Parts: sequence; structure tokens; C-alpha cells
Amino acid sequence: MALSGTHAPPEMAEDCWDVVVVGGGAAGLMTCLELPAQLRVLLLSKEHAPRSASRWAQGGIAAVTRADDSFASHVDDTLRAGAGLCDPAAVELLVREAPSASSACWSWAWPSTAMAQG
Ligand SMILES: Cc1cc2nc3c(=O)[nH]c(=O)nc-3n(C[C@H](O)[C@H](O)[C@H](O)COP(=O)(O)OP(=O)(O)OC[C@H]3O[C@@H](n4cnc5c(N)ncnc54)[C@H](O)[C@@H]3O)c2cc1C
Repeated sequence: MALSGTHAPPEMAEDCWDVVVVGGGAAGLMTCLELPAQLRVLLLSKEHAPRSASRWAQGGIAAVTRADDSFASHVDDTLRAGAGLCDPAAVELLVREAPSASSACWSWAWPSTAMAQG
């Protein structure tokens, strides 16, 4: 596939990159940041970052952060809200990884507002 547009380098050899990440939303950008620094990473995205769903997520991130909260209740809430459409294993992983993932977002100055309650 030929690359075009203002962000495309004039030439791109196929063996330039160790990792190709597809998608410039939160998942793709976090993947790039988590990869070892010595790897040559190419991020490909159909749209520029402000067009991703991540750009519009401003309502907060749900994560277990308090001692009186629990992973089990977050899993239960998520499965109920999903009305049978959620993969339980994916929900379990999401809920358990959310505290560390949201902490990483804050450390990278993710543009969101931390809320003490809820
Ligand atoms: C209006 C709105 C509000 C939301 N509010 C919240 C909220 O308050 N809290 C919350 O936790 N979540 C919220 N969400 C959900 C959240 O935004 C998504 O779950 C999250 O951003 C998904 O991240 P992502 O990186 O997987 O996908 P995206 O952010 O959608 O990124 C996908 C990227 O892949 C690119 N792409 C797509 N197809 C291709 C292709 N074929 N080739 C190359 N690139 C491609 C896109 O251009 C984009 O850059 C909201 C979503 C929306 C739409």
C-alpha cells in the first residue's frame, strides 16, 4: 500500500521497522509508549488523532482505586451494562488492568479530570 499525505516519509523501505502499530487512538499510542525504546516503531492510522474515539472520551475512566471497592463489583456492573454482549474474560482483564492503565495515563498527562468519587 502506498503511503501519502503530509505525515508520510518520501521513501519507506519494508525492513525499516521492528514493530508496526495500527491505529492512532489510546490503544495504539499506549502500545507505542510501552514498547522497548530500542525498537523502531511505525504507527499507522487511517485518521489523524483528533478523529479517534479516544479524542472524545472525556467522561472519565472507571477503575478500582479504593479499598472499599472491588474488581468483582466492577466486573458485575460491566457485564450488566453490556446486556450479554461482553466477553466475560475480556471484561475481567479490562477491570483488573484498569488501575495501572489509568495511572499510566495520568503520568503521561492524559487530558482528563481526576474525580475523587465515582
Ligand atoms: C463520544 C464518545 C465518548 C466516550 N467517552 C468515554 C468515556 O468517558 N470514558 C471511557 O472510558 N470511554 C469513552 N468512550 C470510549 C473510548 O473512547 C474508547 O473505548 C477508546 O477510545 C477506544 O480506544 P482505541 O484506541 O481502541 O480506539 P480509537 O480511539 O477509536 O482509535 C482507533 C484508531 O484506529 C484508526 N483506524 C481505524 N481503522 C483503521 C484502519 N483500517 N487502518 C488504520 N487505522 C485505522 C482510527 O483512525 C483511530 O486512530 C467514548 C467514546 C466516544 C465515541
